Amino acid sequence: MLNPVTLERFRTAVVHMDWQSHRDRAFRIHQPVAVVLVDAEVIGNDLKLVARHFENFVVVNRHEAKAEFRTSAKKMQMLFALKTRRVNSKAARPVLGEVEWIDNPSGIRNVFGDMKIETLAVHAGQRIDPGTGAVSPPIHLSTTFERDAEGTYSRGFMYTRNNNPNRQALEEGVSAVEGGAAAAAFGSGTGATGAIFQALAPGDHVLAHVDAYYGTSRLLREIFVRWGLQADFVDMSDLAAVKKGLRTNNKLAWMETPSNPLLKIVDLAAAAKVVHDAGAFCVCDNTWAPVLQRPFDLGADFILHSTTKYFGGHCDVLGGIVIAKEENDLFQRIRGIQYEGGAVPSPFDCWLILRGMRTLPWRIRAHSENAAKVAEFLSQHPKAERVHYPGLAKHPGHEIAKKQMSMFGGMLSFEVKGGRDAAMKVSTSTKIFTRATSLGGVESLIEHRASIEGSGTTSPEGLLRLSIGLENADDLIEDLDRALSL
Ligand code: PLP
Repeated sequence: MLNPVTLERFRTAVVHMDWQSHRDRAFRIHQPVAVVLVDAEVIGNDLKLVARHFENFVVVNRHEAKAEFRTSAKKMQMLFALKTRRVNSKAARPVLGEVEWIDNPSGIRNVFGDMKIETLAVHAGQRIDPGTGAVSPPIHLSTTFERDAEGTYSRGFMYTRNNNPNRQALEEGVSAVEGGAAAAAFGSGTGATGAIFQALAPGDHVLAHVDAYYGTSRLLREIFVRWGLQADFVDMSDLAAVKKGLRTNNKLAWMETPSNPLLKIVDLAAAAKVVHDAGAFCVCDNTWAPVLQRPFDLGADFILHSTTKYFGGHCDVLGGIVIAKEENDLFQRIRGIQYEGGAVPSPFDCWLILRGMRTLPWRIRAHSENAAKVAEFLSQHPKAERVHYPGLAKHPGHEIAKKQMSMFGGMLSFEVKGGRDAAMKVSTSTKIFTRATSLGGVESLIEHRASIEGSGTTSPEGLLRLSIGLENADDLIEDLDRALSL
């Protein structure tokens, strides 16, 4: 008996096709390639989702396929409750071989799922350019794409605001690395954050972490509350505060861990349970801990990244992305806001971020190793009053961080004895650390957080935030030691 392909989050599939046999937008099944088998009647809009995860995919119109296939298509329908119709397949490449159905779907190799994160980071979203064989993908600057004679866009692209090959590759790649079902990329992390809030309705309530990125709370307070959202801020490292803060109209809880700039740790699994019990969605801003922390495994429904930071990795590109665990209605609205709203990243920016992603697992490891050494040094220093780094045993969130993070990240902050003036003096005295905002690049940065956040800041006046780069940790320690001793 034919067995339908098991799609594990649309990643595992086997199907067989022949490029040459493309007729009437249906394919004859011939070849084993790592693709998804779908039924034109069944798959509908989800085809786009499927296609995004595969270099090759095929759509079979079940009316032209074999009787046996109809069985599997029905099963697929049951499995995924897929709805409308859509046919596309030119993205598929020629392959050789005969039809081969797999009777044991569990034995099918999951195209991405069984790869380790380093491998995923290198390969997800990457494809050999079919036209030239280029290993590094071309940048598609074209804003518009050729339409088929019959009026469709069988190659999947129409106008770059709607979609673009580089953006699609980036979304595929980041989504695979985070273990999501789909992603929507934006021109900045803030643009991505805003799209999530825009996807809610006036009157909806958002509960956010009080120590979330100050731009996120400002966005809520100054823009979205005016547009009818309700927002409250609680310390989400305190579960009781999360419970107490959830209202009946709460639609979304915004978590960030480690938080900015105090590196508080939210117990993601516990908080997500509380939020889900209240019938709301859970978003985790994972900008500070990509790779190290797997929010979907811990219960998050959406992950946000400012890809400006570790994904880009070199302080030379601005970007943001929302990754969805499932392509639910809220994500569909976010997707709509992406291309109707138009705050999309340029093809070159997408290309840069995807390139950055290829080395992300190794970079974040080195950032973390360096930060752990610097934190240890500062925690012994007489001029450092308090060091905020979850890798330190005395950090209040250390045990939870140990449970939900594989390493503790490249960010830390510390409070200089003597308050604002003393902190300012240190930040102007370092030679290797550059006085600048942002984070996640190869170079180390130092920042007096209260003065950059301005009025309404909750950052202690003596606090300096460090983005630990990829220099040698001994040099960084020496630089800080000298600046602290002046
Ligand atoms: N989330 C976090 C945790 C951040 O640190 C930042 C920026 O610093 C953002 C979101 C906003 O990202 P962007 O500057 O790309 O808009």
